[in-house]
Amino acid sequence: MTHPPKILDGKKLSHAVARTLSKKITTVSSRVGRVPGLAVILVGENPASKTYVAAKHRFAKECGIQTFDANLPSTISENDLIEIIRRYNLDDNVDGILLQLPLPKPLDGARFTRMIAPEKDADGLHPLNQGLLLQGLPAPRPCTPLGVMTMLDLALCSVELSEEITLADIPAASLAGKKAVVIGRSQLVGKPMGFLLLERNATVTFAHSRTSDLPAVCRDADIVVAAVGVPKLVKKEWVRPGAIVLDVGINRTAEGKLVGDVDYDDVAPVASAITPVPGGVGPMTVAMLMSNTVDNFLRRNNEAV
Ligand code: NAD
Repeated sequence: MTHPPKILDGKKLSHAVARTLSKKITTVSSRVGRVPGLAVILVGENPASKTYVAAKHRFAKECGIQTFDANLPSTISENDLIEIIRRYNLDDNVDGILLQLPLPKPLDGARFTRMIAPEKDADGLHPLNQGLLLQGLPAPRPCTPLGVMTMLDLALCSVELSEEITLADIPAASLAGKKAVVIGRSQLVGKPMGFLLLERNATVTFAHSRTSDLPAVCRDADIVVAAVGVPKLVKKEWVRPGAIVLDVGINRTAEGKLVGDVDYDDVAPVASAITPVPGGVGPMTVAMLMSNTVDNFLRRNNEAV
């Protein structure tokens, strides 16, 4: 490739999401009589979780979403945690419930995620909502893959991000005829990612740790999504010139630097568009948490989503 790639700036795009949500909230809240509410449940003192939760609070504020906090000790009993989730499930002012994972041992994150009312699921990880994704029916979708889809839309349109852009300026791209490879098949990212691409008519391949000749599988794709957790796994030789490369991975090197699953410096010269790490998919995951909360708010108030 001779052209420099389009750098998909997740931070700037997330502000475009915030502007979009803020406009929606202003319009609907006067009819409904309140703004959307997001309950954020943090258990224990995990420093990474605290950082993520702080970022979510900041972003909620930017959008105009009210937050409700439950900062709980790691020693909390299962029954007390169940009671807190139950209270938010019943609270009419709460439209999204976020249980920050991982939970401290021995609490089982998946079990408590299932206790969140599906219509208040902000992460899109409740099994009922994952089933609705499989059926192509409306429901909160998992945040990270949803964020990747918006980045893909940005990659495929001619819009340049500016302070005025909202999501209304970025059309949902048709992926008919395009080949997409998703590396990784986790419940959190890989699997839902593949189904969102399929919903847009892409021809999707799921690759994973047991895939043979992964470089050749990737080289066949127009779109490569890496959600693996192996630093700089994807190299230039894996990427067809002009392909779009979306890097979900967040890995910390021995020197404390954050790197993705894609060897950015190696791959960027051959890609037509690429996400950086950090500042790529990460901020969009937070943005989509708010988007799900607003969509839940709209559905719960019989407003168009
Ligand atoms: P996971 O460990 O649950 O799944 C990893 C997947 O990668 C598995 O399906 C496995 O089969 C596959 N895999 C592992 N080694 C492989 C190899 N050598 N070749 C091919 N496939 C291989 O991880 P996850 O939760 O899906 O997360 C993946 C990465 O994305 C991690 O780095 C994580 O930190 C990051 N992540 C980022 C965000 C974000 O907001 N940017 C959100 C979630 C996860």
